[in-house]
Amino acid sequence: MSEHHPEPDEDSRPWWDALARHLLTYQTCTDCNGVVFYPRNRCCHCLSDALQWHQSLGLGTVYSRTLVHRAPDPRMRDQLPYPVALIDLDEGFRMMSRLVGPDANQTPIGARVQVVFGLGPDGRPLPFFEPVDPVAAPDKRGDANGGGHETT
Ligand SMILES: [Zn+2]
Repeated sequence: MSEHHPEPDEDSRPWWDALARHLLTYQTCTDCNGVVFYPRNRCCHCLSDALQWHQSLGLGTVYSRTLVHRAPDPRMRDQLPYPVALIDLDEGFRMMSRLVGPDANQTPIGARVQVVFGLGPDGRPLPFFEPVDPVAAPDKRGDANGGGHETT
């Protein structure tokens, strides 16, 4: 169903298992030091099978974004349109994911985002991303919504 995330299989099972524990993981190759994503059993750079799993901090930058107007899954039709982005994670891999949160539809290219964990339409855990900082009003971020802590 999902063109956005790897399907669970033998190679990606550790990724899904970690995701269920709210951990975003990726692989690196111990032979060429390349970063490997999506999960697979051989390095996409040098075909080595010497891959290691790592935990991502889940922080990244929006590389590109688009609004989805036709849901790949009929169960998501009531959420249309929703923003989907290519996100460059700080660890050096790029993944496609949904942008969520109140500012999701305004999240610009280049915005800093962080992973949040939710559920896909089939109930599987999925990583989504939301802006790290409020996008809408850069100069007047009021505390009207009771945001709690202040970061100056
Ligand atoms: Zn390699």
